[in-house]
Amino acid sequence: QNGNLAPNSDFKGLSFDNIEWAKATSRASKFVAQLTLDEKIGIVTGNASNLQGCIGNIDAVPRLNFQGICMMDGPQGINRAESVSVFPSGITMGATWDTSLIYQRGMAMAKEFKGKGAHVMLGPVSGPLGRNALGGRNWEGFAADPYLTGLAMSASIAGAQSVGVQTSSKHFIGNEQETQRTRTTSIDGSIVEAVSSNIDDRTLHELYLWPFVDAVRAGTTSIMCSYNRVNQEYACANERLLTDILRDEIGFRGYVVSDWYATHSTLATANAGLDLEMPGVSLAQDPTYFGDALLGAVSAGNVTQSRLDDMATRVLTPYYLLEQDNDYPTVDPASIYNYVFQEVGWDSPYIPLLLPLLGDKEPPAGRDVRGDHASLIRKIGAAGSVLLKNEGGILPLSASTTMNIGVFGNDAGDPTDGLTALLTDDPLGFEYGTLDIGGGSGTGRHSNLVSPLNAIKERIANTGGKVQYLLSNSIISENNFRTIYPRPDVCLVFLKTYAAETYDRASFEADWNSTQVVTNVANFCNNTIVVTHSAGINTMPWSNHTNVKAIIAAHLPGEETGNAIVDVLWGEVEPSGRLPYTVPKSAADYGIPITNLTGQDVGRYGWQANFTEGLMIDYRHFDAFDIEPLFPFGFGLSYTTFEMATPATFTSLVPSGSLTPTPDAAVEIQPGGNPELWSTLITGTVAVRNTGTRAGATVVQLYMSYPKSSVPDGTPLRVLRGFQKVYLEPGAESVVLFNLTRRDVSFWDVDAQSWRVPEGELGFYAGFNSRELVQNATLILL
Ligand code: BGC
Repeated sequence: QNGNLAPNSDFKGLSFDNIEWAKATSRASKFVAQLTLDEKIGIVTGNASNLQGCIGNIDAVPRLNFQGICMMDGPQGINRAESVSVFPSGITMGATWDTSLIYQRGMAMAKEFKGKGAHVMLGPVSGPLGRNALGGRNWEGFAADPYLTGLAMSASIAGAQSVGVQTSSKHFIGNEQETQRTRTTSIDGSIVEAVSSNIDDRTLHELYLWPFVDAVRAGTTSIMCSYNRVNQEYACANERLLTDILRDEIGFRGYVVSDWYATHSTLATANAGLDLEMPGVSLAQDPTYFGDALLGAVSAGNVTQSRLDDMATRVLTPYYLLEQDNDYPTVDPASIYNYVFQEVGWDSPYIPLLLPLLGDKEPPAGRDVRGDHASLIRKIGAAGSVLLKNEGGILPLSASTTMNIGVFGNDAGDPTDGLTALLTDDPLGFEYGTLDIGGGSGTGRHSNLVSPLNAIKERIANTGGKVQYLLSNSIISENNFRTIYPRPDVCLVFLKTYAAETYDRASFEADWNSTQVVTNVANFCNNTIVVTHSAGINTMPWSNHTNVKAIIAAHLPGEETGNAIVDVLWGEVEPSGRLPYTVPKSAADYGIPITNLTGQDVGRYGWQANFTEGLMIDYRHFDAFDIEPLFPFGFGLSYTTFEMATPATFTSLVPSGSLTPTPDAAVEIQPGGNPELWSTLITGTVAVRNTGTRAGATVVQLYMSYPKSSVPDGTPLRVLRGFQKVYLEPGAESVVLFNLTRRDVSFWDVDAQSWRVPEGELGFYAGFNSRELVQNATLILL
């Protein structure tokens, strides 16, 4: 039961209970019992040489009618494939604060994976969570907050798995930076180990593990262990994480797959709880630590037969849990060509194997799996657009006035360098063209991309208006506006901030000389509107320029970005996004720098990232140091206005004196941990009203404070513990219900190794963002 989730579509509780998992496990185990030793090794070792064409492949066992497993990236839709959609990124979904849309996106993406014959979607992402504001992969995740991220994980997983596609929740855990994310070997053969994320137990539980717990409860079938080390041990060889926490404490019943090439040993990983090595055997002769090495270890008794059976059974359990043995589509025969031609290139060892198969024929065309997903993508684009400034109500633009519009910046038009940003050779990405998704394994391959410029031209075409544009940031930076005449009524500036796997961002400002670009346009044009496509947090040194009348953070909205922005600019759809992070006044306000020891001789084990800030990331950090943000976490405007009625009511559901501070340890663990953690202890209602003249949506947010005297030092001032997006007609009112579980009101007691409800007053604050709150109530549970 969760009051934050809309009816009909969302995940409302445990997806599969122990009994359903047990049934699937038993089917898997019967299957495994029929396998030879070699076949078992084949189930737990990927085979990247088998020409199936997926990013992760498990071999078929034809004699037992098992067709194999196909895993594909990524979290924003299936990629390295053609005729697929490019969905909004995680950060856009976080900005929607709409679990219903997140669920629908999960479902739509999964339909495309299934259509292509992929059994596993390698996503969603809750690691990185966003400890480092400039983390290169933050955009793949949802929000710099565990509560919002946790619900986004649940809704994504429930949506995807309702279609019968497995999810691999990643990257477990502490993968908060890309710099030295994995082991590197120098030319002289010397090894430098991956950065070690040194995280204390409480921080691990209350921050980084939290959303993974939601994922497990939502039935995620797989967890991908990350590249980095955690407290000195590789995440994929970390028994405390993979066995004690994942299996025993939070009840995970599926399999742990290593991130690609994140396995560096045989015994240490297999015995710690790694079930599947990816990519495994490869044509490129990369080392494999499972495969023959594991066979040797099992034969020598260093990994037990029963552990191998457990590994193989875990890998196959989800296949039965989601009934993938029943009529699942075969892998699109075009996949291997997409993969090889697109990603690996002509020097690939696959080419000599594939060309003879083709003869003189062209590679087959891919199955078109896009369906009508473009309309959902367009809708989400507006729902994830955050209106940060709207002076004098310049937006929405008038639908009836004929306009002379100026469009500026290298993010406005079509890309000139191609339609996929898989390769991550350049930390800045491509110069010309709109940015609707980041780079690396989580990127997309467009079949269609609507740039803002195209959508604006189309919008203006029928009105007799005019669209002038200047897409070169260098020319704009030189203040050369000679080609723009007459001066536009409204100037739209499009900025972008690229990020990609393997690189952390270098600057908080948007890319390509953005500050000069905005300043020059704003000096030239009284009505300047800035739209950012950004893979993360930006500073906005130009935000107070008098001519910058409006700012929209459009994040990374996917292939329909131009249409979605036009919908918002002209008010056909209300912008209803809210920030899933804090926008600082200056870069220095963010306390935690990426650990970067590049070029220093720190030795093999020298890369250490000490998470000494503990729980204080993002808004918790700004609260702890009393730093005023430019735009706070949770902030966003609408074209209409909303008011909250006070006081709201919050009630304890537990009779006084009846609550034990910690859950009963004797209760059987379910996926998600001790089931008592999920019982509702507090319920509350907040009334909200649309006080403006337009229909629109807002997000009612609930923050909670702990009783200071009975929680350890390092407890945040307030934490997010509820939210609900509400759509209201003008004048209409709605009552939002919040249910808080035992986990929501507890802290992690390191000594007791248990969640504990603190003694004393819990405070409840409702509002429209993390800094505009009204204390509504206090409650004492103990
Ligand atoms: C990434 C994963 C991805 C895998 C397969 C790795 O480099 O970290 O997120 O799923 O590659 O492409």
